[in-house]
Amino acid sequence: MEASHRAPSCDDQARRRCFYALPMRPPSVDAIARQLADTGLPHPLLVEAARAAVAGGDPDTARERARAEAEAMSLALLRPVINATGVLLHTNLGRAPIAASLEARPSNLELDLATGRRGSRQRSVAGLLAKAASAETALVVNNGAAAVLLVLAALARGRAVVVSRGELVEIGGGFRIPEVLEQSGAHLVEVGTTNRTRLADYARAVSAHDPALLLKVHQSNYRITGFTESVGAAELSRLGVPVVADLGSGLLDAATPWLAGGPPPWLATEPAARQTLATGAALVTFSGDKLLGGPQAGVIAGSREMVERCARHPMARALRPGGLVLACLQDTALAYLRRDGDAIAFWRMAGVPAATLRTRAAALGCGAVVDCESVPGAGSAPGVGIPSAGVALEGDHTAALRAADPPVIARVVDGRTVADLRTVEPADDPLLAKALTAAAGGC
Ligand SMILES: *Cc1c(COP(=O)(O)O)cnc(C)c1O
Repeated sequence: MEASHRAPSCDDQARRRCFYALPMRPPSVDAIARQLADTGLPHPLLVEAARAAVAGGDPDTARERARAEAEAMSLALLRPVINATGVLLHTNLGRAPIAASLEARPSNLELDLATGRRGSRQRSVAGLLAKAASAETALVVNNGAAAVLLVLAALARGRAVVVSRGELVEIGGGFRIPEVLEQSGAHLVEVGTTNRTRLADYARAVSAHDPALLLKVHQSNYRITGFTESVGAAELSRLGVPVVADLGSGLLDAATPWLAGGPPPWLATEPAARQTLATGAALVTFSGDKLLGGPQAGVIAGSREMVERCARHPMARALRPGGLVLACLQDTALAYLRRDGDAIAFWRMAGVPAATLRTRAAALGCGAVVDCESVPGAGSAPGVGIPSAGVALEGDHTAALRAADPPVIARVVDGRTVADLRTVEPADDPLLAKALTAAAGGC
């Protein structure tokens, strides 16, 4: 029962003399851990895996259990995957794909290179984003939820905020507008009904409650259709109370000047930061990693006076983003200002013609070429699809594909495993073909 790759030590021999008659001698935790070194995990994790395996029952199978345990630990580590789901902004896969290739170097994060004095970590990045959205100014925080929370805490604490009953939404992960409002110290005044809210409803609430803000929340991940009515930011702004629009999705400009062919049809119902501000909203908030196509971040853009009050609030320090995120967001903002949608992976992938994807699918040489439909994802443009193509294998092979290196994430549709090529980097096609071939047991 000793590790086969080393000669038994004196100690081992002594132990064997004492114990060889015992039928169930448990293998040593340390010996098992050392045998797992090929997994590449640090020794303390291997010891943990070995200890769990030894404590967990039959000593004869402890080694196999320890290896399974170590493999589970290894699979839990963050790693690049191939997204073959066709969901461009897949929340489980980190939403927008981003490139982060920074050297281990200091940066001028909080140093003004012109003066040598302390600078703002985000003035430059926020300024670039504000320019791209034609906003007066902007502030970057950790995510969209933080942006909403900070706006409410900084601008409406102890006061009323008016929200339509049709917009009291829950976004994924337990972000519920009424609860965020409560946490911010503002109090919610609901107006209208689930399906219909009119300007007069807001006007009544304005005279009765003297609200600090009127909050519009984009119905990101659902639609109310049929007998409906809602009030846009333009009309609301006439009531004399600042309007804040939580857009969520982060479309900077409905005219998409960064796309050579103009706005694609699937974008038609998405509100955009630039137009929402132009029609009268005082502030917009949105995520960095949805339609903006950048890293996880939240952006508050609009009125200089209001953004500055947000920046001065003590909570802003707790919600501030790190240098890695800001560097990545800066690349995204510069790409927008260069009108270079191809430099943003989300827009590049979203714009590939289905015919190109069909050609790539055929070239994979594994599975049947199929037409399918991709979706933007992350609650953006719910219910709309983007014509796409990929390959299908009979049966459910998703578990085998997840076990590939790199893992491939695919969907099962009508009993077939479908790999949608829209969300796969072309450079990854050979890896996808290899994983599909292995999963199907040959092609
Ligand atoms: C996604 C979304 C949020 C939350 O943004 P995160 O970046 O996920 O924190 C808030 N409001 C709306 C309308 C959203 O769509």
